[in-house]
Amino acid sequence: MVGGCSSLSYSSSSTFIATTTLSSSLKLNPQSFIFHLNLRKPPPLRCLSSLTMESPKPILDFGKFDDGFVQKLVYDALVWSSLHGLVVGDKTHQRSGTVPGVGMMHAPIALLPTPFPESYWNQACEVAPIFNELVDRISLDGKFIQDSLSRTRKADVFTSRLLEIHSKMLESNKREEIRLGLHRSDYMLDEETKSLLQIEMNTISCSFPGFGRLVTELHQSLLRSHGDHLGLDSKRVPRNGSTSQFADAMAKAWLEYNNPRAVVMVVVQPDERNMYDQHWLSSVLREKHNIVTIRKSLAEVETEGRVHEDGTLTVGGQAVSVVYYRSGYTPRDYPSESEWNARLLIEQSSAVKCPSIAYHLAGTKKIQQELAKPGVLERFMDNKDDIAKLRKCFAGLWSLDDPEIIKKAIEKPELFVMKPQREGGGNNIYGDDVRENLLRLQREGEEENAAYILMQRIFPKVSNVFLLRDGVYHKDQAISELGVYGAYLRNKERVIINEHSGYLMRTKVSSSDEGGVAAGYAVLDSIYLN
Ligand code: ADP
Ligand code: MG
Repeated sequence: MVGGCSSLSYSSSSTFIATTTLSSSLKLNPQSFIFHLNLRKPPPLRCLSSLTMESPKPILDFGKFDDGFVQKLVYDALVWSSLHGLVVGDKTHQRSGTVPGVGMMHAPIALLPTPFPESYWNQACEVAPIFNELVDRISLDGKFIQDSLSRTRKADVFTSRLLEIHSKMLESNKREEIRLGLHRSDYMLDEETKSLLQIEMNTISCSFPGFGRLVTELHQSLLRSHGDHLGLDSKRVPRNGSTSQFADAMAKAWLEYNNPRAVVMVVVQPDERNMYDQHWLSSVLREKHNIVTIRKSLAEVETEGRVHEDGTLTVGGQAVSVVYYRSGYTPRDYPSESEWNARLLIEQSSAVKCPSIAYHLAGTKKIQQELAKPGVLERFMDNKDDIAKLRKCFAGLWSLDDPEIIKKAIEKPELFVMKPQREGGGNNIYGDDVRENLLRLQREGEEENAAYILMQRIFPKVSNVFLLRDGVYHKDQAISELGVYGAYLRNKERVIINEHSGYLMRTKVSSSDEGGVAAGYAVLDSIYLN
């Protein structure tokens, strides 16, 4: 145990032990006011597992920088963001979610990159291709998906609708030959156990592949200009290829589909203030690969879409080779039957879906929890080293039909997060609400249990950061979540791409439980390797 903090351990026999109550891991620690940075090592441009970790040195004390200097950094960051398209629609402007170029605001950002140990960075990069492969194999096991979610289906209408489409595909023997996965695996560094633990694997609509690169480049630029004064070296912020790597993977999928006249279709929410992140991918597709992108809502796909006899999907008369979803992951994206019809139509076509319904379901929280059960990874993976690497990242995960865990969670709810089958932020249950909800479920009967999973709460180190929103900076205590993008492309037996594809750090005030940037809880960030 470190610093007398609360401790969760998860033994191989699935026994869960909560040894002490929540304590100093969330209390203010004077050390957390200091960035621990090491400037001596040469910069790694890619993940290299052989690099060793030196003990970090305290370099920067934020308290030493006067407001004038921070304001100058803020000014430079705002100019850079405006000039380079690190912008979102301004929520106070009515048309900012529908008309590009109208009502723009810089994206919420951390002013400086957040220190992150190089060894964990290497670990997160190393497992990305293994997770990509795992998702692909799960997607081929229709029975596993259906069985794992069979109880959830009864308790959760949204999951049930997705499973219905999946069943239809199984019944019609529909096979996805070209499979494109653009994933993001999210992690927090647990301060207590000193381990990198996965929060979740996102397989649909992973946000910010456009801005991951940009916020990294912004931080590199600020450190090039002000690094001497800050005592920071821009080269310790690792290169981030998120935009081009995702766009390149889409372009390769387009090539595999082999219809030069076909377009890439981005399925969008009708009102999308995060449109510029998406436009970055379209821009690379057009300028680097000469591929045209169209943007359609699910409702528009229903009216304009058609699947032809040979399987070709046309929307508004244009053949679509790749369907890239930036919508469709929450029940709010399906306000009527039209949207469900559109989802089914796309699934029935021969277009490459990113994701297919099977990839989508493979990324659900229930499947994440099933995978953490003893012996389940072995169903999909042969290589013992790969299995060990994945398992090392798994936090404690449980279904609600385990009375022992329910008892523990009612006693110490602060050590757990209760999660419904939802994506997009703002849905999880924390603290006393965990207890209340578990007690309510005990009173109301078994069935609704299956709508949730329980997860060990992870407590990352708290550090002092400057958060920048609406052109104003705030100094606060914050924790961070590292997302590593992964791209996977396969055509039948041929794996064309399987790589880690850049990253996104998200940083949020430590008093907030949730972490979404679009949902308004967090800011975009990059990492400073130490
Ligand atoms: P979503 O699909 O809504 O993004 P997540 O599982 O990623 O759901 O949870 C949302 C946020 O809640 C995360 O970004 C993280 O900040 C926080 N969170 C989720 N799980 C945990 C956990 N086990 N411990 C601590 N924080 C968590
Ligand atoms: Mg998440």
